[in-house]
Amino acid sequence: MDIRIEGLCKYFTSDGKTVAALDHVDLSIPANTFFTLLGPSGCGKTTLLRCIVGLETPDEGEISIGGEVVWSSRKGIFVPPEKRGLGMVFQTYAIWPHMSVFDNIAYPLQVRKMDAALIREKVAKALRFVQLEGVERRSATKLSGGQQQRVALARALVAEPRVILFDEPLSNLDAKLREETRRELRRFLDELDITAIYVTHDRVEALALSDTIAVMRAGRIVEMGTPQDIYFNARHRYVADFIGRANQIEATVLRHEDGITLAETGMGTIACQRRELPAGSRATLCIRPEFIHITSRAAAPEGKTALEGRIEALEFVGEVYEAEIAVAGERLLARIDPDVAVRQGDTVRMAIDPAHCLLLSA
Ligand code: ATP
Repeated sequence: MDIRIEGLCKYFTSDGKTVAALDHVDLSIPANTFFTLLGPSGCGKTTLLRCIVGLETPDEGEISIGGEVVWSSRKGIFVPPEKRGLGMVFQTYAIWPHMSVFDNIAYPLQVRKMDAALIREKVAKALRFVQLEGVERRSATKLSGGQQQRVALARALVAEPRVILFDEPLSNLDAKLREETRRELRRFLDELDITAIYVTHDRVEALALSDTIAVMRAGRIVEMGTPQDIYFNARHRYVADFIGRANQIEATVLRHEDGITLAETGMGTIACQRRELPAGSRATLCIRPEFIHITSRAAAPEGKTALEGRIEALEFVGEVYEAEIAVAGERLLARIDPDVAVRQGDTVRMAIDPAHCLLLSA
């Protein structure tokens, strides 16, 4: 089911101050996609999710799920959470400690007074799906964190919702388990015709899981796109910075040529991905560390910008070296392949592809 949100506002007042947790949010989420709301703490992600579920009442706007209006301030519509046909998985697994795995998963069906035989059948299917067969009689708290999160997923899926919402579901797991569970989750959902809305502040999670990411800031959606769009072609400095590490260098737009925009910086003239910014305007040049390539060639390959600099600091961080390179008055962070033999103090040549030089309005 698709979800449409129009002009959604939600205000909270505490200590005499009013905060717009949601500030005129417009959003359209196509059916059967994995959609992520990404942003720092306090930007309004959870509030938006809770408004969609019906656990929070917005102040203005409209929410439709599968073409049905479930909330509208203007039309005076409020469909209660249990009638919205949604499943939800929280950060704290929110499973009941005094109940068995079976009873935890069966709960949403028991509330609906479904026939006992049908409940057994549906719970068995959900258990098979999350690969937890054989533990249904165990107390839910006797499971590992990853297994408890799968119980929560099974409970959210047992009633066969068309939309499932996740609020930071992996944040209580340790790093390794988080990665495994993340992959499993994507695999599970790929097998279902389901729309997933996922809230996180973890950029890697967002990049790895999503079809579409919406980056939020102060109650607004700043930018939306595929993980690749957001990572490689961000339009806003805030988004480029939030989604990954980036060198940010002051620049002035010079002129536009075939498919590129030239910008003047403290490192000289740099060819950048074309952006329609007026000549003379101030901008920020954004280059990700992995796109600064050390080269032994005297001249940069055609179309790339050549730079020369001195390695001021070099750090081995596992799969690569991270180098701080002084180029004229600027400092660039670069990720260098361990096969490239360089040492601190070396002068190195670099080649930079304009496709990875983003000019963002300052
Ligand atoms: P986090 O990742 O920390 O959960 P978030 O992006 O989900 O953050 P929200 O929890 O939606 O952000 O909060 C958005 C804003 O609304 C914040 O400024 C928060 O302090 C405020 N807020 C949220 N719930 C309430 C509440 N019940 N009462 C008062 N203010 C609230």
